[in-house]
Amino acid sequence: MNILIVDDDGIDRENIKRTLGHSTTPFNFTETESVDEALSALSVNNFDIILLDYRMPKRDGIELLLELRNSENDLNVAVIMLSNSEETELALECVRAGAQDFLLKSEVSTSRLQRAIVQAQTRFELEKQLHISYQQAKKLAEHDTLTGLYNRYSFEEALQLNILQKARDNSKLALTLFDLDNFKFINDNYGHHIGDQILIQVSQRISDCLRGNEVFARLGGDEFAIILTNLHTVDNATRVTTRILNSLEAPFNISGAKIHMTASIGIAVYPDSTLNANELLKHADIAMYRSKKLGRNQICYFESEMQEQFLQRYQIETNLIGAIARNEFTLHYQPIVNTSGSNVVGFEALIRWNFQDQLLYPDSFISIAENSRAIVDIGRWVIEQAIYQLSVWNLRTTTKYTIAINLSSVQLTDKCLVQCIADALSKYHINPALIEFELTETTLLENSKQTIKTLASIKDLGCRIALDDFGSGFSSVSHLQNFPIDTVKIDKSLIMASDEEKSRSLITGLSAMLHSLSLNIVAEGIENAEVVQFCQQLNIQRAQGYYYAKPLPVDDIEKNYF
Ligand code: C2E
Ligand code: MG
Ligand code: MG
Repeated sequence: MNILIVDDDGIDRENIKRTLGHSTTPFNFTETESVDEALSALSVNNFDIILLDYRMPKRDGIELLLELRNSENDLNVAVIMLSNSEETELALECVRAGAQDFLLKSEVSTSRLQRAIVQAQTRFELEKQLHISYQQAKKLAEHDTLTGLYNRYSFEEALQLNILQKARDNSKLALTLFDLDNFKFINDNYGHHIGDQILIQVSQRISDCLRGNEVFARLGGDEFAIILTNLHTVDNATRVTTRILNSLEAPFNISGAKIHMTASIGIAVYPDSTLNANELLKHADIAMYRSKKLGRNQICYFESEMQEQFLQRYQIETNLIGAIARNEFTLHYQPIVNTSGSNVVGFEALIRWNFQDQLLYPDSFISIAENSRAIVDIGRWVIEQAIYQLSVWNLRTTTKYTIAINLSSVQLTDKCLVQCIADALSKYHINPALIEFELTETTLLENSKQTIKTLASIKDLGCRIALDDFGSGFSSVSHLQNFPIDTVKIDKSLIMASDEEKSRSLITGLSAMLHSLSLNIVAEGIENAEVVQFCQQLNIQRAQGYYYAKPLPVDDIEKNYF
């Protein structure tokens, strides 16, 4: 057994050697007289135990002890402190600093010292095991098991600490948040195993773009975060994040598949955007959302206007819940007119929302309602309300007006949609042929199999289908053939540009084609008499627009048309 004796007193060192000389265990002694000498001995030789004098002239034994216990390398070894002082406080201090035992020099005997050595070694081993388990548990608690990166918990701690630090040295920090674009598609189509491989490879590629001292974390799913410090200018953050986007450009080779992956990045800068860690995270999240919205695979910095938009959106989303129960929706009706005689043939129902003393138009809430699926209930309310209104009006006149109702793509995934329509028709005794449902081309493209089925069921009820906003998007002839369409509404953007020669030719060609397919045509956005004339020339039978009437509340419609 190799023993290192550290004691400035030669007599004491001799005493130890003599005492242990009587033991049956063979000991090799190395003697040093100071902390520094001991450290050099420890750097070249391995020892099983250190017998360390507490009091020495230059540096106390406890200093050596502290240095050993704080060092990360293998200098660590069991230590027994020796002292002439009987103070209990001193012994406790040594044990707290990491000594395995404390002996009074006056008490040292062969058996006592030998026992102390064995016990100290055992204790040291146990402590070491405990320390390793602690480190492993800590790593598990702080790191993401898949990628080995920090997890959300340790990331949030690190963010708090970094912010405190930056507040002290008056410098900046960029919180960078990103998630992978269309990652759900990979998981759904290639399986989670491949998804996991992508996450691992992405985290490796991105680690290579970093210096290594940044906090890089996986917050969950495909969402990652990096805390960029050492920012001389904010441009540094742009440089690093551009490098990150570039690093993802090459396809990922996984199990023979070549997969392309991009990311959307949002950055919020401390202290420019906020002083608070939670808010900084929210801001980076808003910026990331903006990146996605702008077309993905890009970097966006948080700006305060974004927050306003975000809050507005959030307000709308939360207030949409319960808006039906609070009776806040209303329908306005825009007359649809026969171009030859200018008589009204029907109305399009257009939703409005009485929200906080404002009348909101569909453009500001329909897409939000679609995202949260609130549109399903709202859409059912619109159907029931519009059909009810038609029944009231048609009792008052001999002309049988039609009603056009807009349907969102999300509503087509509602299994109860067709039943809901059928119920309203029978409840109000309405001829189904008077109801026309309007859909856009994008709606037809989403879930086209399911859509064809639902549209067929709606047609089976006897209702009609119109393709809305034609000429603003794909304007595909195949949609006209593949879906059971009765009417095509030419988009107002095209009609309103009909003073231009190009648009006139386009509308002329379009209406000829629609006529040849025996489809009914409605021109939207008629704002003056010249356009009416143009529509008459093209034999477009129906028209709708501010020239005839704006969408109006029920009372106004009744005043003007009944
Ligand atoms: P849309 O179905 O194409 O409805 C026509 C839109 O054009 C209406 O806007 C109408 O006010 C506007 N408009 C009509 N004539 C003119 C005109 O001469 N000039 C101009 N500049 N505009 C005209 P609104 O009411 O804001 O509705 C916007 C869109 O919101 C609708 O477009 C429709 O896609 C959607 N929407 C409206 N109500 C509902 C609904 O109940 N459910 C669903 N899912 N969507 C709806
Ligand atoms: Mg419409
Ligand atoms: Mg339209």
